[in-house]
Amino acid sequence: MSETRTKTDLGSMSRAELEDYVRSIGESRFRAAQIADWLRRGVDFPEMTNLPAALRARLAAECESGIPKIEKKLVSAVDGTVKYLFALSDGECVETVVMFYKHGTTACISSQVGCRMGCRFCASTIGGKVRDLRPSEMLGQLTAASRDLGERIDGVVMMGIGEPLDNYENTVKFLHLVTSPDSLNIGARHISVSTSGIVPAIAALEKENLQITLSISLHASNDTRRSALMPVNRKWSIDELLGAAKHYFDATGRRVSVEYTLIAGENDGEDDAKELASLLRRYFARGDALHINLIPVNPVKESGFSAGSRESIEAFRLSLERAGFTATVRRTLGPDISASCGQLRRKRETDNA
Ligand code: SAH
Repeated sequence: MSETRTKTDLGSMSRAELEDYVRSIGESRFRAAQIADWLRRGVDFPEMTNLPAALRARLAAECESGIPKIEKKLVSAVDGTVKYLFALSDGECVETVVMFYKHGTTACISSQVGCRMGCRFCASTIGGKVRDLRPSEMLGQLTAASRDLGERIDGVVMMGIGEPLDNYENTVKFLHLVTSPDSLNIGARHISVSTSGIVPAIAALEKENLQITLSISLHASNDTRRSALMPVNRKWSIDELLGAAKHYFDATGRRVSVEYTLIAGENDGEDDAKELASLLRRYFARGDALHINLIPVNPVKESGFSAGSRESIEAFRLSLERAGFTATVRRTLGPDISASCGQLRRKRETDNA
């Protein structure tokens, strides 16, 4: 291997771990609080001005902060949505989107460089998975964006590049850090983890006792259709996935979110809506145990899929409402900056090829 990672990843440490580290290099404990404070503000080692220059230089040489560099930044003229292409310390890139809602500012972050799930409609998976992100690199997307924008981030959705539950340990460590008062202190109730359906990891997540929202990417109402769109379904079926989601709801009391990407002619007909409602009803007798998010598919050149008309999307939504579910059509934010994740990194890869 050309590069072995020997740097100490300070950005992934809890306060106690950071204190142990500073003591191990012969520094006083209060340095841990100073370093943590800078990291939380998205400031990297060379700029930590209240540390002695020698210590700053040592940290910069021996440690990782996880704070990425802005490779590209796009701001939507339509709604102000900001999309970053961030460069990580090894030069790999991921995308982060910041959306401004009335109730606060939400960031959509990436959990891996690339993805190995192979969903047919998704741009992030086309080149496969390159590597997992470390907790510091998930936090770093938030702190770098927050610093650049001068805005506090109130909520996080793990719906960027990657499958968070295929990078389970790092994702869970990130979730504990980001909700900690020592770090960004973001309320767990304002955090969603979205999964394509790694069933054993959903069961494990349930036991972490976090008040986060579980979001499952369903996208089809029967196994034949789902397996054709999402290879993960061949490993864990819809029955196993919805069973795990129901269990998550029963154990945590947290309403589960169901994502359903509407693809014209594939899964968006009246029959599909009916089949979806009766499928969900089998697991969630109470409609209020879940919320359905309908996402008109974002066309990705390689997939050839497109979204249906506004009318067909509204008809699909109404059909679910009539069956007793709450369903909303996701507003398309930043349409002018291809804000859907995966597309910017993909463009950079193909431009460089
Ligand atoms: N791997 C996770 C999170 C990343 S994607 C997951 O699968 O849930 C976040 C959501 O966007 C998922 O529901 C995903 O299926 C959906 N998605 C991916 N590509 C899309 C596209 N081209 N158009 C609309 N939604 C898409």
